[in-house]
This record gives sequence, C-alpha cells and structure tokens, in this order.
Amino acid sequence: MTVRCEDIASRPEFLHLSALEGIAVDLRYAGVDNFVGRDLYGSLDCAWLHRLAATGLGLAAALLAREAPGHRLLVLDALRPHRVQVQLWDHLEGTDLRQYVADPARGSIHSFGMALDVTLLDPRGRELDMGSGFDEMTERSHPRLEARHLASGELTPEQVRHRELLRRVLVRGGFQGVDNEWWHFDMLDRQHVRQHFTRVD
Ligand SMILES: [Zn+2]
Repeated sequence: MTVRCEDIASRPEFLHLSALEGIAVDLRYAGVDNFVGRDLYGSLDCAWLHRLAATGLGLAAALLAREAPGHRLLVLDALRPHRVQVQLWDHLEGTDLRQYVADPARGSIHSFGMALDVTLLDPRGRELDMGSGFDEMTERSHPRLEARHLASGELTPEQVRHRELLRRVLVRGGFQGVDNEWWHFDMLDRQHVRQHFTRVD
C-alpha cells in the first residue's frame, strides 16, 4: 500500500500539522539546515502525520502546556516521503553512520507518518539546550548513554532534564523513543506499522 505525497491531502487517514494547536513546525529537510546540506522537500508539503500520530502529538502538546507553561513542541520532521528517505540513505553510503537512518528497503516509520522528530521551545521561542543538535550523529545524542554522559560531564543535568521533559510528554502522548536519537519518537510497533499502514512515496 503506497500513496504519492502529492496525493496525501485526499487521504483521510492523514492530518496536516496546521490542524494542531500549540505546535511549532520547522521541517529541517525543507531547507538547507540539515546534514545533507540541501533542500530535500522542495515544493512537497511534508507537514503531515498519520492521524494516530497527530492525535498523540496533540496530547503531548497539551501535557507540555500543563507541565511547563509557555513551552511548546517544535516539530523538526514528520512525514518523510520514501523518495527522500532513499536520498538520506544514499548520502551516508560508505560511512558508519547508517544506524541513524532507516534502510529504505525496510522503510522508515517517518514514511508512514507514524514517526516524528521533535524538540522543545522555551517561552521566548528559543530551542532548549539538549546537549547535541538535531541529527548530530554522535554518541552524545544517544538517550541510552545519558547516565554515562552525565557522569563524565559530557551532558549537564539541565540538558538531561530537558530531554526527560521531552520524553515524558511524548511517551504520555503514546510515543516511544529510540536508543540513539533524543529527538526521534515512533507511534506503535515498527513492524506493525510497516505491515499494516500506507507508505507515502
Ligand atoms: Zn526521526
């Protein structure tokens, strides 16, 4: 099951992010501020998620508003068409960084609109310090290693608190994080999504 990104507006299972309140959107692959260094989305509108993920994101935003008034979620990537996933994968060919990008042969959960890259904005609209940048492909970005980084001083207690706040609201919204990227969250089991959801090409 696939649908072209150009046709997604006609598919009721997807929701545009503009329909959600309290969410800021800055899709990094829709500009040159990303690890590839060029605009990968061009004229494609990728500010979409599957309804299940969009509902979870809305819930996370509401929880954040209660827990840290004035703060907002900033979406860095949401729906990522399969054709763009192929470009990310190809860009990392010959490097040891492919753990950070899903093999297009299996399919990225982003391409189903069921994954999201997200950070936090403070009440003045500035990104909270997470200790490493979005798509920084180093161990400093690995949530699994935070205790070690905290002990060594690689991450400060404040940076870890910021990550924990982000995770807390996303997890309560129904998402699960991953071991190696503080910014990435999946809705539902990956294998289930790949088998039962429509991939956007
Ligand atoms: Zn991601």
